[in-house]
Amino acid sequence: MGVKVCKFGGTSLADAQQIRKVAEILAADEERRFIVVSAPGTRPHVSGDRKITDLLLLCHQLAEQGLDIAPAFNRVRERFEGIAAALGVRGVPAWLDEVETQVAAGVSRDWLASRGEYLNARLMAAYLDARFVDATAGIFFRRDGRLNEEKTYSTLAERLRGDGRFVIPGFYGVDPQGNIKTFPRGGSDITGAIVARAVGADVYENWTDVPGILMADPRIVPEAQPIRELTYREMRELSYMGASALQHEAVFPVRDVGIPIHICNTNDPAAPGTWVVRERDVRRTPQVVIGIAGRVGFCLIFIEKAMMNQERGFARKVLTVLETHNISFDHSPTSIDSMSFIISEEELNNKEDEVVEEIKRVTQAEIVEVIHDLALIATVGLGMAYEPGISGRLFGALREERINVRVIIQGASEINIIIGVATADFERAVRAIYRAFITPCA
Ligand code: ASP
Repeated sequence: MGVKVCKFGGTSLADAQQIRKVAEILAADEERRFIVVSAPGTRPHVSGDRKITDLLLLCHQLAEQGLDIAPAFNRVRERFEGIAAALGVRGVPAWLDEVETQVAAGVSRDWLASRGEYLNARLMAAYLDARFVDATAGIFFRRDGRLNEEKTYSTLAERLRGDGRFVIPGFYGVDPQGNIKTFPRGGSDITGAIVARAVGADVYENWTDVPGILMADPRIVPEAQPIRELTYREMRELSYMGASALQHEAVFPVRDVGIPIHICNTNDPAAPGTWVVRERDVRRTPQVVIGIAGRVGFCLIFIEKAMMNQERGFARKVLTVLETHNISFDHSPTSIDSMSFIISEEELNNKEDEVVEEIKRVTQAEIVEVIHDLALIATVGLGMAYEPGISGRLFGALREERINVRVIIQGASEINIIIGVATADFERAVRAIYRAFITPCA
């Protein structure tokens, strides 16, 4: 019998009705034995609803400022107690009391943020009659904040041995001192991938409230269809640029061992969803481009100096300035006399003048300037490497819309063409590219 790890996101566990759907999904396939849960998310029918994690983070902020946490914590309490009562799970009020008492005694942000997953996993284990295995017993971080892979995979494999179902809370683990540490937001996806690898799963099912990874952001392209199949690399490019079905770091643990990720919809379990796989046959997909994703909020540092290409150590000097200011950059398009760095605005925040001055000083460049309001759009597809004329089509579509392209980046891998446009042109550009490459019926 095969083994499936199923991670359920916050909207799939937002209330008792959703949780019943989850139970049905699990009952339909006995290979679904390892269940990773998020904290309850927002309920679409409740206006102004908040994610449990957001409420817990609010509690932490209030506690830090010496303010009363009760109003915010009571919302957390009501949610969990309501779900537990509807599902007939006992003991939940006492678990919540425990958390509230600990908060009063002073707890870290990560500890409190993790309680949504912790409580939900205990609740789900009780409801499903499954074994609860806390993430603190199996997910370990190193002192530098990175995952201790060896220890995590071997310990988790040990803890998750045996028959029956196991429920594991997503989003956190422990550091070497035994303190709880969370992954970035949306990090239960990462936990799911780690568990899949630890137990040697055949499939990592990621259950969410969308039909899969869409070919474009539906807020910009309402008719965007789900992508049936894509590779880990294509997935990484798209999710890094904002395609949001899966946290972008979640690919790594499963990619190395080739476990496919199946993104499924809890509200429509029979739908095909999206498969993320190691390799795919590009001839099976009618379009060369499988997805378009983009983000606003970038800027570009442009540096120009005559004969720059012949100067030894030029790039090193600029990179040292960026490093000393703790700035990471996303791309660096260059030409013979100029070099530029695309950086998210947040990275440069408050440091712009200093950084520009310092680059001027160390490089003696003629021009160092920052261009703001840049949006990046990635057009992704493995098949692009084999088909001529792709960039012609892309730029033709933008020309027809009279959109000025500020930067072009094409990595040597040729699975991706990234363009930079003014923020004001962002949505129009995404729509133009979508129309140029993706046929509506695909
Ligand atoms: N609950 C956490 C968040 O809201 C983690 C997750 O759901 O994946 O970010």
